Order: sequence, then C-alpha cells, then structure tokens
Amino acid sequence: MSKERGKLPKDRLNPILTSMERDRPHLENLVGELIRCYPTYIEDGSGIRAAQSIVRRELTSLGFRVEEVHMPEDAIKNHQLYTHVENWGPQFENYSPEKHVTLLGELHVDDNAPTLVLNGHVDVEPVFDPEAWKDPTLWKSGTAEGDKIHGRGAADMLGGVAGMLFALKHVLSSSEKPKFNILFHSVADEEIGGNGTLKAILKGPKADWALIAEPTELTINQASLGFHHFRAETTGTPVHMSQASEGQSAIDVAFDVYQRLNGLRRTLKKSIASEPGYENSDINPLVTGRIAGGKDPAVPAEHTTLEGVLFSAPSQTRKDIQNLLDETIASDPPLNASLTLSGMSFDGAISSDRTVPDALIRAAKSLNVSLEERGFPSPCDMRLYTTTGTPTTIFGPGSLAQAHSTDEFTSRDGLFLFSQIIANFLMDFSKTAEANSK
Ligand SMILES: [Zn+2]
Repeated sequence: MSKERGKLPKDRLNPILTSMERDRPHLENLVGELIRCYPTYIEDGSGIRAAQSIVRRELTSLGFRVEEVHMPEDAIKNHQLYTHVENWGPQFENYSPEKHVTLLGELHVDDNAPTLVLNGHVDVEPVFDPEAWKDPTLWKSGTAEGDKIHGRGAADMLGGVAGMLFALKHVLSSSEKPKFNILFHSVADEEIGGNGTLKAILKGPKADWALIAEPTELTINQASLGFHHFRAETTGTPVHMSQASEGQSAIDVAFDVYQRLNGLRRTLKKSIASEPGYENSDINPLVTGRIAGGKDPAVPAEHTTLEGVLFSAPSQTRKDIQNLLDETIASDPPLNASLTLSGMSFDGAISSDRTVPDALIRAAKSLNVSLEERGFPSPCDMRLYTTTGTPTTIFGPGSLAQAHSTDEFTSRDGLFLFSQIIANFLMDFSKTAEANSK
C-alpha cells in the first residue's frame, strides 16, 4: 500500500488516516444524528432546522464562519435559475425559499487563493409508509449494523454531508492547513429543484470549483442529466356514436401520441448514450405517469391529457427538448394534439475542468483505490454551479439505487473510504491551489 502513496508523502498522510480510524464512531454518530432529525422538505422545516444546527455545530468547531442565507424573496424569485415550487400544486402553495434553512460556511485563508466549495443537501425525501420497511422504526433510526447505516437520507445524502465534515475535521486539526479558501454549502430544497444551493451561490463568494457529495458509489461524475415533466393534450370530436368515424375520439389520438412517445424514448436514449459517461447507461428516459379523459362511454372522448417525465442528455437544453416534442406531434400526419413541457424542468450539466477529478484520482490512488468515471443518472444542483461559471464534480458515498427507497442504507466502509479520500484530496489540493493562485 505504501508504495502507491505517490504524491502524498507517507509521513503527512499516515497521522490523519490513523486519527480518522480512531475517530470513526464520530462519523457514524454524525450520520445517525442527522438521520434522526428527519429533515424532510414536506414538513414545517423543523427537521431541516435541526439538521442544520448539527452541521453548524460541526463547522463552527472547525473554525468556519457560518451564517444562515437569507435574501429578499423577490431577489431570488426573479432569478432565471429559481424553481417556482409554489406553482406545483396544493402541497406546495405555502412554499417560500426562505422557509427551509440553508447554511453558508466559510473558511477564509487568503484573498489571493482560489476557493473550493463543498456542497451537500440536508433535505431528504419523505417516508410515507414506514410499515413497508423491514422494521417500521428503521427509517428514522440511523443505526449501524453489519456494513450498513440505516435510515432515510443515509445514501441521499446525509452520509455525504457527514463524510465531508469528518474529513474536514481531521485535515483542519492536522499540522498542515489548507492553502485555499473553503466554502461549505449545506443546503435545503435540493429535492425540490435547488433553491437552497441557488441562494448560497447568489450570496457569494463565488467558488472556483464545486464538489457535490451526492451518492455516486465513489465514482467521479462530470455530468448530470436533465429532467422534464411533459403533458400531451389530445382533442376529439364529440358526436353521436353512430356518427363517429375512426380516430375521432381523443382517446384514439392519445394512443397515436403514445406510439410516437415510444419513438421519442428511443431518440432520447440514443442522445444520452452518445455523451461521455453514459455509454453504458440503461436508463429508461421516458415514463408516462397519468392519463385522464373522456366522460361518457358512448361518446367519442373530447379531450385527454397524458402526462409523464423524461430525461434529457447533459448537453440538451430545454429548447432542444421542446423542439423534439413539437416534431413528435407535427411529424406526418400531424396529430390533433399538443405536447409541451409542464411543471418541473431542469437542464442537465457538463463540466470539462479536470482540476478536481484529477486531484480526487490522485487522492484515491494514495489509498490504492482507482476511481471510475460515469455520468450522474439524474438531475441535481450541479447545473446551478456550472450555469453560474463554477466547474463541478459529483463524487459521493452510497448508491443512487438506495436514494428515496424503502430500507435505504449506506455502506459503512464505503462512507469511511469516502471521507479518507476527501481528506487526502483536501491535503493534496493545496498544491493545486498554489498553482492556481491569483
Ligand atoms: Zn440527493
């Protein structure tokens, strides 16, 4: 193992790895504590507030200056990257971007040094059916057994948040201090569009690189997919059934639309598979979720709606997708229907800057671990950083297959390895930072 230590001299690395090993219970307790807050976005925000007070406690003890990010609602609501959650229906009508706490932690080293932001979201997906878990108390337990830490958010992404805090703790208590500025964006509302990260970005300062610890199973992800709701509306002609000709019912038109959506699915699949990191992707990029229409079994339906979601390739914009939807309906023969983006619509993201991924690869190599690269098979807050000019890498513990799922867990060893790699990465990054100082 020591032969491979490469860029990081053994004597610098060993003490940190040893102290991390000894302090491993701190990491696991931290994840458990965060899980037990149940910081879901659908409640009154008290769970998120509780989780953020834990993050604040940790960051403050490391010497970070920590503030809650507040800004006038108009300032954020008029921003082009704002997600209008309040328009998503009755469940969200009281939504305000100020409701859920987002924290901005800052460790300022030098005005001339570059800045790295570490991003983690503390909001978790709600648990609607605890009885479906193998033990009905497991979702809020945060208990560690075998190689698993159980509970909602263990994978997505309280494990990543805790792992980064734990790595910082050990690097900052070592004799060698980082020679770059570090921001910690501990955000809310990622699961509902990213307004927490947007607030933190707008508050500033601007970072030169971002690292997001979403669950990637310790693979490096330099791209994320786009995600869009769509709605097809079809129109028929209501006449007496004896007068109805074939295809006159809106339901007939809906079936035609559905056939063409299958074609669109193949087109999207091809576009996604053509981009770096997605060559082996087996994602189904188009899902239909709701169909409604018609009133009377004996009358050709006048109207139907067919709704679903689709994934777009990292480089495809909303406009590209809208054009594809238009072509789907207009192609010969044109259908008596419309197909539009509706509700949530997020672009994908791509980052070509190799600074952070290469440093992560070196850091992992010093632990005899080689890191694979993939594309992130979901949208996330990456697009908010890349759109505002900050190259971004997604790299985290846990699996996206566990995210939002019943019996969600994260691997204990995977989480610990993640924190070791991040610690090595932070140590190594001072050299990169010096080369990039202003
Ligand atoms: Zn997530």
